[in-house]
Order: sequence, then structure tokens, then C-alpha cells
Amino acid sequence: MRLSQSLFVTLREEPAEAEIPSHKLLLRAGYIRRIGSGLYAYLPLMWRVLNKVRRIVQEEMDATGAQECLLPQLQPAELWQQSGRWDTYTQAEGIMFAFTDRQQREVALGPTHEEVITAVARDMIRSYRQLPQNLYQIQSKFRDEIRPRFGLMRGREFIMKDAYSFHANEESLKETYQAMAVAYSNMLRRCGLEFRAVDADSGAIGGSGSQEFMVLADAGEDDVLYTADGHYAANVEKAVSVPAAAVASIFTSKEEVATPASDTIEKLTNVLKCAASSIVKNVLYQATYDNGTTVIVLVSIRGDQKVNEVKLTNELSKRAADYQAKTIIGLVVPDGEAMSKWVAQPLPLGYISPGIGDDCLKPGTVIAKILRLVDNTAADLTNFVTGADRSGYHVTGANWNTDYPLPAQVDVRTALVGDRAVHDPSQTLETARGIEVGHIFQLGTKYSEAMGATFTTEQGTEQPLVMGCYGVGVSRLAQAAVEQSYDKDGIIWPVAIAPYHVIICVPNITDAAQMTAAEQLYQELNAAGIETILDDRDERAGVKFKDADLIGIPYRIVTGRSLQNGQVEIVTRSTKQSQEIPVPEVQGVIRSWIAASME
Ligand code: ATP
Ligand code: MG
Repeated sequence: MRLSQSLFVTLREEPAEAEIPSHKLLLRAGYIRRIGSGLYAYLPLMWRVLNKVRRIVQEEMDATGAQECLLPQLQPAELWQQSGRWDTYTQAEGIMFAFTDRQQREVALGPTHEEVITAVARDMIRSYRQLPQNLYQIQSKFRDEIRPRFGLMRGREFIMKDAYSFHANEESLKETYQAMAVAYSNMLRRCGLEFRAVDADSGAIGGSGSQEFMVLADAGEDDVLYTADGHYAANVEKAVSVPAAAVASIFTSKEEVATPASDTIEKLTNVLKCAASSIVKNVLYQATYDNGTTVIVLVSIRGDQKVNEVKLTNELSKRAADYQAKTIIGLVVPDGEAMSKWVAQPLPLGYISPGIGDDCLKPGTVIAKILRLVDNTAADLTNFVTGADRSGYHVTGANWNTDYPLPAQVDVRTALVGDRAVHDPSQTLETARGIEVGHIFQLGTKYSEAMGATFTTEQGTEQPLVMGCYGVGVSRLAQAAVEQSYDKDGIIWPVAIAPYHVIICVPNITDAAQMTAAEQLYQELNAAGIETILDDRDERAGVKFKDADLIGIPYRIVTGRSLQNGQVEIVTRSTKQSQEIPVPEVQGVIRSWIAASME
């Protein structure tokens, strides 16, 4: 690429629309342009980076025996109706762009492809002899994200590699899942990223396992908890830990006590001079199921703990059948307005007990019975403090069973930094921010059962296909690489995914010797497969060097003064180190540096 003939525009100013370094740098360096909310043009330099990431992803997928294909982005509603996800994706979550075509058929732009691939498998896979299969594709996905932000990190159109595997049994699924975990580690390592594989929430789908691949960076939207011994790492949504031991209760008999203005745990501990871990706090939630049913949920949890809403959603999802529903579509802590629709009289918020009567619900508005759950931390307590169901009063010295029936026991607590680890209580949890660039998932039979994708087993019986799915955010990954590697002057691309390896800067294009040497090197390096840009613009040397640093090309060759000695200057972007190298040796030197950087 000759810069003088390229669409190459860099910005001096920090773009106001961008909040995090990688987003600012990609805009400033002319890699991307914003077209609309969550929509970006991938300009020529960006497209080269994306293609390099794609290439690495393809190579690692192919090495596992997975087969590349391409599925339609425009998807008929029927498939999503068959899987039961049409309503959730178009209404509840609302993340799918759906519309009606000229023949009045409902269609949607694919946010993901479980339905399409399961339809293909349903048609084509008949027998255990055809199993296992693993198909993947790389294409743009569409998601109407509620908060598109950070450029390519969370777009409404973005590039994903998605793979789907089909198996006769769980063991076969686990084998492929394992192979995918290895492939993902290889991909990210080859892309030059520092990452961690973490246990992840499998969501309402259940399934027996799921891992996310997190690029560690402060701009990440996910919280990762891990132990220093390297044996445990999990998304906070999923993380488990041993909670701190509860302090023994100072109360011995049940009493109702006045606790004015104590509607928070902190105020209450001050008034009663007791530990937060002696308190059972009761949190109200409003859950909505896909059939429109609303259930009021009361979660009792130890006062020093926090409810993990992802874990709670999973618990409530398991109970969907109790309410003739398939899945939960909403979970909120109701505000005053929401509550006014279903309370019979105002609730003593901050003073609720685990035994508050169902008669607080207005008949005919929500399910008449409150769903009561107790987290393991609160279930263990004795002589605890809790609300008295009357404003300004609490009960001390209360006990389960004698004072309140023990509700269904669940694990819905949020693991906290500093908690002891389950695998080794001498290890404590530490925290880091992560950018989720990949997710691998044992799906089981959810889609194959719903869509009737079955196969004939060796014994001649008909069974649903066992499935796995595996995603990589290709465009997010490319930006994550920048988030992990930049300095005050610009991007520092890992060599493996840099748009070019080398940029030749000609300090003075009117100097014939400089131009000839640059032109020759440009031809020679490109011919040798070293991807090289020639900055032959009519600009000052300073401008060229600044731009070269900004766009982050690993090696900059300057055909300047040293030419008189038959040498050029080569500057390594990551270290800023400069060396004079005789012109005939340039190709060999750069080739060896590139090879070393990819080891
Ligand atoms: P997130 O929790 O970040 O929304 P997700 O769980 O919805 O991600 P998946 O459905 O598992 O993501 O998609 C696979 C991969 O696609 C993710 O690991 C991520 O790298 C990428 N991805 C998902 N949503 C977006 C988006 N809006 N923009 C860019 N990449 C995305
Ligand atoms: Mg998402």
C-alpha cells in the first residue's frame, strides 16, 4: 500500500464519542468510522486486521476437524417459533431485529444461529454413523443491544465465529468441547492476547458446562474472580466461594424491638450493635414468565451477603413449569410504581420478615402465593435478626422452623473478592475486569428436542442430537488486542494481527536517493511476503513518524541520513528501539524478528 494513493486519514483530536483507549485509537488511526449507533465501517487497515484474526480462527478450527460453512443471516420466524425463542428474542429480551417482508412473512436478522443449524441437522443427520459433526462460520451478526458502546466491543452489527457440534452422547460432546477449549487457547495465544478461561453461567439453558475466554483489561465489562494458584477462575455471575463465617448471634430469645429509621443493614447493625451476619435480610423480586405470569419472590439471605441475580434467574427458570411457563423473561426489584399494581396495602419495606403473609398481595394481580427462597448463608443462622413486618420494628433471636418455616434452600449469593476458595480455603478470591472474547458451551438437547432433530442410535432407537456451541467475537477480539497493547503514541499491534508488518517512511520524497531506496525495499519486502506500507506522502517526516506510531505497525524503516552509509534505520514500535541495518540485510532481519514474535 502506498499511503499517497490510499484512503488514509488520521485524527489529531481525541474523538468525543469514544470513552476507552482502544475505541479512541481505532477512530483516530483511521481503522473504523462510526456509521450509526453500534454500526461501524471497517476501513482498509481494519479489514486487514480482521482478516488476520479470521485466518487464525479458521486455522485453529480446521485443525480440530471442524468444517466451515455459511448460513443465511436472514432467518424465517418459524424456526425461532419451533425452538420457542421467537417471543423472548423479539419481545422480552428484544435483542433480535425482526420485521415483515412483502409477502407478510416474519423474518429476523440472525443474532446467533442455533435454530438454523439445528434445522440443517434435522434434515441431514439420520444416523449415529454420521456423528459427531462440528460446523462453523464467520459472518456478521445483528443484535439490537440496549447499550451499544466502546466501538467494536459492543456493536449492533459485529463479526462472530460461531460453531455448532452434534453428538450421539454426552461423552462425545465433552471431547469436542475440550478440543474447542484448546483451539480457543491457541487462537488467543496466537493473536498475542493475554487471557484467562473462566467458568461461566450457562443461563436458563442449563447444560453441563460453559467457559468464557476473557481478555483481561480494565475496560472489560465482566468481573472475573480468580485465585492466585491458577486453579480457579469464574465470571462473578457464576463464581462460588466459601462465605466468611457468621459471627455468633448476641441474641438469645425472641423479641420484637423498636428499630427506628433502620431500613438498611448498616443502620440496623448500628442500632442493634450486632454483626451484619446475624441478620436475615429479605429481598423482594418481581419475576415475569413467558406466559405473562408474574410471581413475587422473597429471597432471604444473610445480611452481609448480596443476591446474585444471574443465579436467582436460573433458580426461577427451573421453576417455570410450576407456573405453566417455559422460561423466565424478566426479573426486577420492583419500584413503588410496580408494587402499587399488586400490593394490597403498602409494604413495610426494610422491615419485612421471611414470614410476611401472602395477604399482602392484591388478589387477581399476581400469583397469589409468594415464592419464598432462602440462601444457604441465611438457612444456617440461629437466633437471627429479621424484620417484624411492621415499619420501625425488627425481631431479634428468631429461628427457622420455630418462628418461620424454612423456605426452599438455594445458592443465590454473590461470591465476593476476599472470600475463601472452595477448592482450597487457604486461597482467597481476587478480582479482575475481563472482555469476553469467546464462549464455549455444552448445550445438550434443548434445541434438538424443541425442533425435533433426532438420529437413530446404534440400538435402533430415536434420540435427540446432543449439541454444543462455540462463539468467538472476531471484531471484539481485534479491538481487545488494542485495549491490551497501546501507549501514549498509539496502537502497538501484536505482530500476528497487525495490518502490515512494516512501514517505510521516506523523510523527504524530493530526495531521489531516499525515494529509490524506499521504492526498492518496498518492492523487495512485499515480494518476499513481508507486508509493507510505503509512506510516500508529501508530508513532513515528523508527521509520518507520528502516524506510523499511531497506526501501530510493528517495524518502521526510515530511508534517511544513514543511507549515505548504505544503511536504513529500523524502529521497533513496541520498544521504540532503533537500529541501523545495512540495506541488503533488511529483509533477513525483519523476517527473523517476525518469526521470533510469533513463537
Ligand atoms: P455479552 O455478554 O458480552 O453480551 P454474549 O454472552 O451475548 O456476550 P455470545 O452470544 O456468547 O455473547 O456471543 C459470542 C461472542 O460474540 C461473545 O463471546 C463476544 O465475544 C461476541 N459478542 C457478543 N455480543 C457482541 C456485540 N454486541 N458486539 C461485539 N461482539 C459481541
Ligand atoms: Mg450479549
